[in-house]
Amino acid sequence: MNTDLLSFVQAAEIVAEHARTIAAQERCVEHVPLGEARGRVLAEPIVADEDQPPFPRSTRDGYACRTAEVNTHTALPLVGATRAGDPLPPPLPAGSIRQIMTGAPVPEGADAVAMLEHVEHEDGRVRLSSLRTLESGENIVACAAQAHAGAALLAPGVRITPAQIALAALCGYARVAVYARPRVAILTTGDELVPVDVVPEPGKIRNSNAPMLAALVAAAGGKPLVLPTAADSAEALEAALSAALSVDLLLISGGVSAGTHDLVEPVLERLGARFFFTGVRIQPGKPLVFGELPRTGSFALPLFGLPGNPISSAATFRLFAEPVLAALAGAGDRGPHFVAAQLSARVKTKPGLTRFLPAQCNFASPGEGLPAVELVPWHGSGDLAAFARANCFLVVPEDVDALHPGTVVRILVF
Ligand code: AMP
Ligand code: MG
Repeated sequence: MNTDLLSFVQAAEIVAEHARTIAAQERCVEHVPLGEARGRVLAEPIVADEDQPPFPRSTRDGYACRTAEVNTHTALPLVGATRAGDPLPPPLPAGSIRQIMTGAPVPEGADAVAMLEHVEHEDGRVRLSSLRTLESGENIVACAAQAHAGAALLAPGVRITPAQIALAALCGYARVAVYARPRVAILTTGDELVPVDVVPEPGKIRNSNAPMLAALVAAAGGKPLVLPTAADSAEALEAALSAALSVDLLLISGGVSAGTHDLVEPVLERLGARFFFTGVRIQPGKPLVFGELPRTGSFALPLFGLPGNPISSAATFRLFAEPVLAALAGAGDRGPHFVAAQLSARVKTKPGLTRFLPAQCNFASPGEGLPAVELVPWHGSGDLAAFARANCFLVVPEDVDALHPGTVVRILVF
């Protein structure tokens, strides 16, 4: 085992520590219409502008009544009806019952709503069915049961979901304050790379990392800025890196392995970079670099040197760069988020590295157990055809040489 390198957990903790520092920095705020807020990070608390619900609300179509009266199963006279949207009804006179619809305000004096299906009608009077009794409070949400006026219902730092959009709408927010999306420069390196619209000459390959990383950045809430590919020369790299300093996060793909053309680290060093680690005991992605470049008059620029193999780039982005991106975005919950699944086929491996292997998890499987997961056969970390068939990374702990069917494992879903 190469003990010079950090373990996955050690490296993840270093990243999380930097993410905490970054999250505490000031960041720009912008206001977006609610319809564009999904996935953005909230920059202000969402405050209830009135009690919720603002009046005792019926949750059923039925009859507002006093439980002490209806539970005697006497037929009571009907004194009118209230529909959702009607003004508040007058108090319910003693010994009477009032028709009420779902969402309508319950009259003062009534302490429950008898469901439509649970009453019988008799000469214009209404009686609770003999088989039924009603409890005080049944089918009513009391005034302010959900929230009191002035209460903060969402704190800054949440990544806004559709449910939270609905809550903001309920509270009268047509626009919400969100943090600006972090700008993420993507610098791919390699003499072998040609753009996607070029037919590669023998020995060349299309640059697949640039669009993949751009998609990963966008999915994680960042604004990708794809830079022109840099050749494997110190001059080209230095020029490209020097031009990329005005962003919030720098992702460099390729050039971080031990080969003679892997010049990213020495060039970064020449530019004054500080490295937090330059390798992790993981597969894929072992040569991963995490550091920062100093800038005058601003925070240092956090950077990752992602190994160029596409699956290594994707895995290290999800495991390490995404939490930093989330911190730059002001998000409180930064991941990575693993979930449990059950292995359906044996995994044979070698101890010494924590592995994140492309796998297929069957979330649609019927039954009550955990979803079943198995590895996708692959030809190493450049096998994009296999990667495209996977829907998660299966985590193989560092100290095992085999995992047996039935084992509960952790996965990182794409
Ligand atoms: P490197 O990390 O530069 O040593 O590259 C490792 C492997 O990934 C090599 O086979 C490269 O050709 C491949 N590779 C590097 N960058 C890219 C890229 N942007 N798109 C696709 N493959 C890449
Ligand atoms: Mg390279």
